Amino acid sequence: MSQKTVGELNPPGRILLGPGPATLHPRVLHALSTPLLGHLDPAFLELMDETVTLLRDTFRTENQLTIPISGTGSAGMEAAICNVVEPGDTVVVGVKGVFGQRMAEVASRYGANVVPLEGEWGRPIEPEEFERVLKGLPKVKVVAVVHAETSTGVLQPLEEIGRLARDKDALFLVDAVTSLGGVDTRVDEWGIDICYGGTQKCIGAPPGLSPLTFSRRAAGVLDSRKSKVTSWYLDLSLLQMYWGGDRVYHHTAPISMIYSLREALRIIQEEGLKERIERHRRHAVGLWAGLEAMGLKLLVPAEYRATPITTVQIPEGVDDAAVRGALLQDFGIEIGGGLGPFKGTAWRIGLMGYSSRPENIIALLNALEQLLPKQGFEVARAVGIVAAETAMSGA
Ligand code: PLP
Repeated sequence: MSQKTVGELNPPGRILLGPGPATLHPRVLHALSTPLLGHLDPAFLELMDETVTLLRDTFRTENQLTIPISGTGSAGMEAAICNVVEPGDTVVVGVKGVFGQRMAEVASRYGANVVPLEGEWGRPIEPEEFERVLKGLPKVKVVAVVHAETSTGVLQPLEEIGRLARDKDALFLVDAVTSLGGVDTRVDEWGIDICYGGTQKCIGAPPGLSPLTFSRRAAGVLDSRKSKVTSWYLDLSLLQMYWGGDRVYHHTAPISMIYSLREALRIIQEEGLKERIERHRRHAVGLWAGLEAMGLKLLVPAEYRATPITTVQIPEGVDDAAVRGALLQDFGIEIGGGLGPFKGTAWRIGLMGYSSRPENIIALLNALEQLLPKQGFEVARAVGIVAAETAMSGA
């Protein structure tokens, strides 16, 4: 046995401005420490129903089959795919970043014939590309895209692709992990059949749940499967017996996580989804103005940017690890490094949920203003902060 005594849990204070998790609202933290109920206690079942009602509002859907999957966003991704894909099915996946790649990988593991539609990283994929690929395929089961690609900071427009998927009689599957709760995401209006999110980003809860919704059409595909869903844990036909009327035990629900999600969704409801989306936009515009005023270059053209996540090109000669390390150690601020081809060349700055606040933007710009000159990248004093404040007040 280890002789070392482990001290009381006392993590350092951080402002989380990376690609997620985001800083939690104190009310969500409080919900996490609320006494447990049993997972079949009628009082808990009522909290589950309330959570689902709030989730439908956030997804902007009437879908009956709407539940939080136990597990992070990747569990939602896997559930979204494994419940409808059977071996040999054709799945067209828009791949313009790490999470599109992950969807393609997951679909292939469930036996799909994956047709990746590769797009340039840092740009959305044009609907004409989907049209061209879909035309050349006899039968397509699923068309899948990432709404806000967290590895690049691009927002993929969805409506037109949804129309093309429907014309092909394919299910339209959308990864909304980074967009849900912070960017306009209209499941019913945009003809999205399957959509999943993550709790740790704009929703404002810790990582650990993945809200998922299935349209009637998608639920019909699940019901008419020839084979059992390969994953027992993520099988929605079993999960909906717990979340739906019968309340049949499937797995022990992560009670505290559901408390925290319910509280986070209550906060969204109080703020108003529209107002919250506008807040994410206004603050992103402030951040972009501040960074650009400091002479930094953003990787994605303004019209394609996802407001919760901004990718910044690391200037020539600036040491990525040194800056991110000093931000964390000296200023208590976390930002993300680049992924895939952007590794070592880009930073990813998240303004999600409770983290999306003017004081966080000012703190970050101030810290960068002090750190970058030490790396040989000169920045005029306060220029970024003034630009950000001006943009936020006028945006
Ligand atoms: N999809 C997107 C767009 C993401 O940004 C992420 C995580 O950052 C995931 C899926 C996977 O989510 P998780 O890391 O919570 O499993």
